[in-house]
Parts: sequence; structure tokens; C-alpha cells
Amino acid sequence: MPIRIAVPHETTPGERRVALVPTVAAQLSGQGLQVSLQTGAGCAAFYRDRDYTTAEIVEDRAALLGTADIVLTVEPLTPEDIALLREGTLVIGFLHPHKFNDRISALRDRNITGFAMELIPRISRAQNMDALSSQASIGGYKAALMAANRTARFFPMLTTAAGTIRPAKVLVIGVGVAGLQAIATSKRLGAMVEAYDVRPETREQVESLGARFVDVKVNAVGEGGYARELSDEEKRQEMEVLAEHVAAADAIISTAAVPGRPAPKIITTAMVEQMKPGAVIIDLAAYSGGNCELTIPGESFGHELVMIYGPLNVPAMMPVHASEMYAKNLFNFLSLIVHDDEIRPDWNDEIVATSVLTRDGTIRHELTRQRVEGGQS
Ligand code: NAD
Repeated sequence: MPIRIAVPHETTPGERRVALVPTVAAQLSGQGLQVSLQTGAGCAAFYRDRDYTTAEIVEDRAALLGTADIVLTVEPLTPEDIALLREGTLVIGFLHPHKFNDRISALRDRNITGFAMELIPRISRAQNMDALSSQASIGGYKAALMAANRTARFFPMLTTAAGTIRPAKVLVIGVGVAGLQAIATSKRLGAMVEAYDVRPETREQVESLGARFVDVKVNAVGEGGYARELSDEEKRQEMEVLAEHVAAADAIISTAAVPGRPAPKIITTAMVEQMKPGAVIIDLAAYSGGNCELTIPGESFGHELVMIYGPLNVPAMMPVHASEMYAKNLFNFLSLIVHDDEIRPDWNDEIVATSVLTRDGTIRHELTRQRVEGGQS
């Protein structure tokens, strides 16, 4: 019997991505795997059932999930879906280890092997399966377009018969994957870009994109190449340097995040009130509370003539390419899991061992285990 890979229709409201696109489904079929999708699974991402020429299309979700060996998803399955799986099934997708205690304990209790795409280590060998990066780069690109679209000003410099228009000043806060893409896209649109991060190595990356690095003289490199939370004194220093750059910006794109923690509050209400009328803030950190004190996740509103927008799930706004990139990440990850027509994860491989969230009735990721089993929300 070939290994059965199932892709259910996503059920999270607003989720338009699909875990497999037709080209990647065909690659898996070419390797001898049986690919099945629920009717209409790719529809919201503009992939029609008939485009999946090598896959089986299954109407009945319970039958699809109940016969699967491996389930590929974007968002985590609900406990009701997990109850339909056979024990020992593999589930691979974003599992949100920081929330959804009920879904994680359901995976544990049903003896499901759950691989969380967000736990894949950020090492060179894992770059082609790094879904956090592929989706974050979409967020950064789209945030620059949102800023350009919402601002009352041109991004590029224009020399016209009606006079010369100065280029917009864009400030990018947080220079991870999303921030870098926001810088590159804003530059392509002709803006003057400034950016800063608390990881000093980002200076070179910012400058190589032709933007100006704002040095807040804070070095907060944490574990695994991520930033750590700042002390109160560091926060004060960060804000002091930043205030004048915030006041001068026509658009701010903020992306600062610390894994597993609420987003750092960097732009205060007082700073917003010093901004130019018609300026905009696109707060990509809205999903974890936002970098601006005023951000309301998912909402767009004005505060004293400044527009503030905290979009949620930005990759789902570009579902064709977001799904394509995500599907390729999954395909590359599967190469560590399926060998010679058998499901045989290499547990000695750092990528496999780090990304497994549940296995054999236990939660393998220590912080998540403590949180879920310690009853914390
Ligand atoms: P992220 O989404 O966790 O955070 C975004 C940025 O916010 C980070 O650059 C972080 O330093 C910054 N930040 C946090 N607190 C801040 C504050 N108070 N002020 C300003 N900035 C603040 O980051 P990410 O995009 O997921 O990237 C995390 C790390 O992983 C980076 O070092 C990145 O280079 C690295 N990475 C490595 C690989 C690889 O080698 N395969 C792939 C992708 C990312």
C-alpha cells in the first residue's frame, strides 16, 4: 500500500492558503505517494480540484482523515478532526505551540506524531523547509505595499511640472526576515528607508539593501539567533533614540518579535501623537499584541491623523505564492521523514528531533509540555 498523504480543507476563518499546490502534489505522486485532498481544499488559494491532476479528490473529510498516514495542514487541526485520525498518524503543519493547549493535548492523547513547522531550527541546512521565513518574507513585502497604499504621500521622489516631490521616509522596526523584505520592497518603491534592530549584525544587512541603520546602541542577542527581551533601561534608551525617527517617518513598518513572548511595545501613544498628519503605521507584530501601544489586532483606524493598521495572517492575503512556498517547505521536510516508500523519520537528525511536538503519547517540546501540562494558558 502506498503512503497516503491527506490535505484537508483549512477551517480557520480567513485562512486562504492550502498545504499542497498542484506542482508539489505531482512531485509527491511521482515519488509513489498517494495524495488525496478534500474537495475544494485549494479553492481559496485559486487552485482548482481539477488542477491536482495526480491526486484523488475526496468529498468526505472524515474518510480523508481516517485513512491518512500523513496529514499536511497550514493551521492546526481541531480536537474534533484529531479524533478522526488513526493512532500513529503523522501531522505536519503550523501547530502553534504557544497557544491551542486543547489541540496539542488532543495530538498527545491520540498518539499522533505532530511536527510543528515553526519549531524547525533556523540552520542553513533547514533553509529550504523554513516556513517561518517563507511566510515572513511575504508579510514584509505586503506590509510595504500596505504602507504605500495607505499613506497620503508618494513613496518615490518625483520631479514634475507641478514641482518636486520628496521621497517618503519609511522606518522599519525589527530587521528579521519580514523586516528585510519590507526594506527591499520600500526601496524598490523609491522610499528613503531607515531601519533598526537590537541585533547588531543587522546593520550590515540593512546597509547592503541601501537603507540607513539607526543605531539605538542596544545589543540584545538571545538564544538561537533571536532577540531577547530588553531590560527597562535598554527600553528607555531604545525609545529615546527612536522618538525623533518615528516623528520624521511618513510610514512605519514594525516587525519586532521575541519568540514565545508578547511583542515588545516600542511605539508609545505619545510617539504616535508626534507623528506627521497622514503618516501610517503597519504593525506586523499585531498577531502577538503589536509593537505600537495603540494597535488593535486586525483593525485599521486613525489616531490623531495617523493611520494604524495591525494586519493578521498577512501571508493568507497572497495565497497563491504563500501556498506555493509553504508546499515546497513541506516537500523538503518530508524528505527527512519518508525514505524508500516508508515513513521512517530519522530521529537523530537535529531538524526532525527539534521539530517534533508530540510523539508516542508525550509532548516532546519541553516549554510546550510545561505550559500545557502545567495548566498555563
Ligand atoms: P522574529 O520574527 O522573531 O523577530 C523579528 C525581528 O525583531 C528580529 O530581527 C529581532 O531581532 C527583532 N527585535 C526583537 N525585539 C526587538 C526590539 N525591542 N527592537 C527592535 N527589534 C527587535 O525574527 P525572524 O525573522 O524569525 O528571524 C529570527 C532570526 O533567525 C534572525 O537572526 C534571522 O537572521 C535568523 N534566521 C536564520 C535562518 C537560517 O539561517 N536558516 C533563516 C531565517 C532566519
